Amino acid sequence: MNAPAAKLSPSDNIPTVNTGAHAPGAFRNEPFINFHDAANRRAMEEALERVRERLGHEYPIVIGGERIKTQEKIASRNPAWPSVIVGIHQEPDLAHAEQAVQAALAAFPAWSAKPMVERAELLLRSAAILRKRKFEFCAWLIVEVGKNWAEADADVGETIDFLEFYAREAMKLDAATTPPIQFPGERNQLRYIPLGVGAVIPPWNFPLAIMAGMTMAAIVCGNTVVLKPSVDAPTIAAHFYALLEEAGLSEGVVNLCAGSGPVFGNALVEHPQVRFISFTGSKKVGLEIHEKAARRREGQIFIKRTVLELGGKDAIIVDVDCDIDAAIEGVVASAFGFSGQKCSACSRAIVDEHIYDEFLERLVEKARAIRIGDPAENFYMGPVISETAYRRVLDYITVGKTEGRLVLGGEAVNCGGGYYIAPTIFADVAPTARIAQEEIFGPVLAVIKSSGFAESLHIANDTEYGLTGAVYSQSRDRLEWAGDEFHVGNLYFNRKCTGAMVGAHPFGGFNMSGTDSKAGGADYLLLFTQAKSIAEKIGTAPDADNQCKGL
Ligand code: NAD
Repeated sequence: MNAPAAKLSPSDNIPTVNTGAHAPGAFRNEPFINFHDAANRRAMEEALERVRERLGHEYPIVIGGERIKTQEKIASRNPAWPSVIVGIHQEPDLAHAEQAVQAALAAFPAWSAKPMVERAELLLRSAAILRKRKFEFCAWLIVEVGKNWAEADADVGETIDFLEFYAREAMKLDAATTPPIQFPGERNQLRYIPLGVGAVIPPWNFPLAIMAGMTMAAIVCGNTVVLKPSVDAPTIAAHFYALLEEAGLSEGVVNLCAGSGPVFGNALVEHPQVRFISFTGSKKVGLEIHEKAARRREGQIFIKRTVLELGGKDAIIVDVDCDIDAAIEGVVASAFGFSGQKCSACSRAIVDEHIYDEFLERLVEKARAIRIGDPAENFYMGPVISETAYRRVLDYITVGKTEGRLVLGGEAVNCGGGYYIAPTIFADVAPTARIAQEEIFGPVLAVIKSSGFAESLHIANDTEYGLTGAVYSQSRDRLEWAGDEFHVGNLYFNRKCTGAMVGAHPFGGFNMSGTDSKAGGADYLLLFTQAKSIAEKIGTAPDADNQCKGL
């Protein structure tokens, strides 16, 4: 399939919004909800109440606009109350994978031929609707994946940011049809055209922002997709899909099938007509996808593109002359916010030996004060996502007990049958220990003693990952040094290593952390396009003899 040449009228203008009160203009990050405000607290509680009344509903898969139910079902559960079913979903099989790819192929010609501004307006309309229904989407995030109120709000806010940001970036890309150099005697154009049909495979942990960001970046460029959300968070994806329909999504542009990764996801990855795979998730699955996508299948006429954003083993360096209070606050927030279930979470604190004892003592004191409980009641730390995750984290804690000195936590917390694990800190961990090298994806922090800044940097870089990192220091020289030598995709100075903001902190990692896609950055949309150069002879070049030279 070849993408038709887009007939777009390039424009620098930001598209107008047809719905919603938000006036388009320069991009601005969505403000966070102030939950100290009584009206906002009441709105959140009411939204949770309304969502509780809708728990346990059944959701279809949607292929080419058709709602389909399957024999096999998937139950999504509240990790704080595992007996509570949040939503019943379908379990699509290989025939559905084929049907979904064909629906995306059928929708591609009309969708890719639409002017960019129309596609961008879909994103802006979706943002406007989401903005009005913020509390409701926060409530779904709270009950389906166990985010507390602020974490849920950050997920919804980031989704709005992605929609607003990519709409504007798409218009810039549309306007960038002229290469900076015009060859004498020619009219030269460069058009960014879509790739075709893609598979979008997001993780469960930012089940709205990452799922929506990956999907909408792909479709705003004119691609059509099969979206396979995680089986741990399919309800949020179903509600976002319904929102897209309300915003005017055309049938077949996004085909929604939450299904098993190894079966349904794999079928998409291997399908000979799927041109790109946009994946965010674990290193293990990402590498498998990379390998499978590289193998040519019968009937495949293109090289598949993979966009892979994977795990991390993120470190915060605590330098000898830092503001210790700020460092402790940053480490605690980065390590235990959302129970350490962020790819950007701090799982290693590398601390200068001169302040090690004081830092450790005060860190433990601060982390001990963390309140654990049902995120619906807005406790700081909720459960981990599933029984599988719970067992994996507890296994790592058992390993940690042989590798370091347990100074906090180290056990499950009994609370309503949910998958709760206490904030856990191991001190005196060797940089090469398993708990200092492998991604745990839970509330477990390894504290490592360092003899000075050079060694801290060496330890920080000495894993196979390279996603985020932070340095707390008051030395301009050492911050500059880290800027040059701390090898991560997202580096922060004197602030936590989580909480990337769309636009300001384009996000993506080095090494085994991914292909450095920089989601929320100006380059991201290019990953979902291919550039077509068109040269038209309109006169005689002054040095026409030389035109036979070159590629
Ligand atoms: P995961 O790798 O288990 O699953 C991710 C997605 O892949 C899910 O939709 C899953 O169903 C699907 N999948 C699983 N096996 C598959 C297969 N064989 N073929 C195709 N698809 C398959 O990850 P997860 O538990 O959902 O998410 C946590 C991981 O994601 C962590 O490692 C975390 O660091 C990473 N993550 C990375 C980023 C980033 O931007 N770098 C952001 C968020 C999460």
